[in-house]
Amino acid sequence: MNTHPTVYDAVVIGAGAGGLSAAARLVAARRKVLVVESLGRVGGRASSEQIDGFTVNIGAIAIERGGVFEETFGLLNVPLDIREPSPATVFLIDGKVINVAKGGWGMLLGTFTKQAAKIGTKFADARAGDLPEAKMSTKEWLSQYTKNETVHAIFRNLCAAIFAANDDEVPARAFLTYFAVKGAFKRFGFCPRGTVGLWNDLADGIRQAGGEIWLDAPVTQLHTQDGLASGVTVMKDGAAQRASRPAP
Ligand SMILES: Cc1cc2nc3c(=O)[nH]c(=O)nc-3n(C[C@H](O)[C@H](O)[C@H](O)COP(=O)(O)OP(=O)(O)OC[C@H]3O[C@@H](n4cnc5c(N)ncnc54)[C@H](O)[C@@H]3O)c2cc1C
Repeated sequence: MNTHPTVYDAVVIGAGAGGLSAAARLVAARRKVLVVESLGRVGGRASSEQIDGFTVNIGAIAIERGGVFEETFGLLNVPLDIREPSPATVFLIDGKVINVAKGGWGMLLGTFTKQAAKIGTKFADARAGDLPEAKMSTKEWLSQYTKNETVHAIFRNLCAAIFAANDDEVPARAFLTYFAVKGAFKRFGFCPRGTVGLWNDLADGIRQAGGEIWLDAPVTQLHTQDGLASGVTVMKDGAAQRASRPAP
């Protein structure tokens, strides 16, 4: 163990979207920052891997524009390398391309069920604050209005894509809050180099602003003093190293 701990204003554990965003904001605020990541790459669950010569995203694909994320890149003058699709979302169903931006959800659902107007009214009720009871799942909620299998498949697909869960697991409240109240992702895009490209860019920006990022460096121990986090033990190059905050 390195007995002389290196001192940082902040040690960020994990170089995923959360950790790198926090580190970017800290270095932008002129703090001395160390990011430690147990894997050999950045991005966490929003990253990409090379598989059989292809760049494969292993988690997040659609990246929101115009929000806090883009603002964070801006703080370090790192360009956000995102290609916005136009039209934003289409469904390919039974060989037909359905552009939801043009006709809205009503048009999409109206292709498959006579109950589309009723479902549309329920989306409007949700927007007005009238949400289903907390225990009702998205599947149960939808089953009240239609049994059409394609409509259920669309909702199941949305639950899987956005919440990484099944329609009988996602509460209808969460589904409606996301899609009806918050309006979901209004603008989003994809990084042409795979999602990891964004994190490599932000990691470079953090380094250029004076931050350090250690890869293949798992934190093995947290240290506390008077109930506050005071430092970490990190394995780096086969040896235990200690990184601490400045003495109070
Ligand atoms: C299949 C799937 C699809 C998704 N699609 C989208 C999408 O299209 N758009 C979107 O915005 N979001 C999407 N998400 C959600 C998004 O990927 C996550 O919300 C986000 O990546 C989480 O980031 P995080 O930093 O909180 O956690 P993580 O990405 O999990 O990062 C945590 C990091 O900490 C590291 N770590 C853990 N323990 C230690 C330790 N002891 N020492 C050092 N390092 C450690 C891990 O290796 C990891 O890199 C998707 C998620 C999944 C799973």
